[in-house]
Amino acid sequence: MFVKNISIKTTKNFELVDITKKINEVLKISGAKDGLLNIFTRHTTTALFINENEDGLIKDYEDMLFKLVPRRGGYRHDRIDDNAHSHLKSIILNTSITIPFKDSKLLLGTWQRIFFVELDGPRSRNIIVSIIEG
Ligand code: ZN
Repeated sequence: MFVKNISIKTTKNFELVDITKKINEVLKISGAKDGLLNIFTRHTTTALFINENEDGLIKDYEDMLFKLVPRRGGYRHDRIDDNAHSHLKSIILNTSITIPFKDSKLLLGTWQRIFFVELDGPRSRNIIVSIIEG
């Protein structure tokens, strides 16, 4: 199995980073032809998802997340860390996504892009890309 660690430096408290290009580069470096590619984030206040990268939608994703989990909610974790909303947003998203690939190309749909979601930045983050051929 090919495994690669990728660093992502975020610049905002909440940020959506389109990592599609980075992931394609890793797949290329791996030399793998057909199989499954998994992306895993190693943090409790980040997430991953796949969807369209359109300016209006980018704001809509943010608005939806902050509506579902407001910044302040009388959360118990805020007594020790003041970032409960970041953890809670993380668990309603994903910490891991798997994408099939064929002929060294991710089988993403036309409008599908891979997003890394920073929920408590800015920080230096790490994600793991694992590639299984077969
Ligand atoms: Zn915390």
